[in-house]
Amino acid sequence: MNEDNPLSDSVILLGAGASKSEEAPLQSELFQNYFRYIRSLDRDLVSYLTVFFGLDLEPADNRQYENLTFPTCEEALGVLEMAISKREGFSGNENFQRNRLENIRDKLIRAISLSIARSLESSMNRRKRYHDILASQLKVNTNTAIISTNYDILIDDALDKEKHPIDYGFDFRFQRKDGEITTYSRPQNGILLYKIHGSLNWLYCPTCKGVDLTPLVKSVDGMSCNNLEHQTDCREVMTPVLIPPTYMKDISPHFLQSVWESSELLLRRAKRIIFCGYSFPDADIHLKYLLKRAEMNRLTSDPLEVFVVNHHRGKNPSAIIQEYERYFRFLRNHACFHYTRQSFQDFCEKGLDASDEFSKTEIDCMKL
Ligand SMILES: [Zn+2]
Repeated sequence: MNEDNPLSDSVILLGAGASKSEEAPLQSELFQNYFRYIRSLDRDLVSYLTVFFGLDLEPADNRQYENLTFPTCEEALGVLEMAISKREGFSGNENFQRNRLENIRDKLIRAISLSIARSLESSMNRRKRYHDILASQLKVNTNTAIISTNYDILIDDALDKEKHPIDYGFDFRFQRKDGEITTYSRPQNGILLYKIHGSLNWLYCPTCKGVDLTPLVKSVDGMSCNNLEHQTDCREVMTPVLIPPTYMKDISPHFLQSVWESSELLLRRAKRIIFCGYSFPDADIHLKYLLKRAEMNRLTSDPLEVFVVNHHRGKNPSAIIQEYERYFRFLRNHACFHYTRQSFQDFCEKGLDASDEFSKTEIDCMKL
């Protein structure tokens, strides 16, 4: 980054494209990767995907999974979340009756966690660590904060490597690290990292409603909520916190609501938001609402400058036009909107280059 620190008072928003730069699976690839990497398949999960989405999940070798069309994580989880919230069941199999759906949902969440973890492990030695480069550029005292829509812990690990304490925006009950359980103390002056759809390293107990911070490896093992030392022994299986964007409103637990509140305050004060690897999809209405609140209810006299860093060489012109327009039509202050020619990788390595942006005229010419 430049000497005058262009990132101060900035919020960096990480979308799926940022994680994709390090080979994390996209939503649409999560189940394919799960079946590619996991040898012992869970019967309930196989039965759910087979019966609900018409898949044939008995192929003998991995290559055949490549040819299957899986539902996205949002679709597979969303159907279950909606049935659970409406207290409805499905016919066809006793496994799909109302009281069995939460079990399938929890297994699905664990499968998604495993898929992300194994995909990132398998690319560990060949991928370039863009999140590490980004974290090395951040300084604790520059008022740079991060909002992430991703479940993976690429940015968490990167900040940890730089010895930056992380403030997730709420207090955890315990920290579980290297087999030890310790009390958690929220860091003073940590880097703010608000993960608005949850995170694989947050383990939630639906019985005592405690949420613990844990390294990724532990979070996917179905750890049970017991810790006599701290007078909790409910033995409930804890699950990672993953809330698909569409179902945010109905099912978000209390601590996630405070993450959203804090994100709003952060954006109302921020001078700029830099959308990295985020395509502003139509479905993310909760995030759009947050951005609109930040634009309208400013806590500073400065308007909110919006930068988009989501370009790559050879990007399809119609994808550029559509993405540009999704942002443009939603934002109120077009003079403060900057759709750059940078990729997330460029941004990590060279910092924000505000001069390198597409103009409205250029986009209009691309339409011809
Ligand atoms: Zn518990």
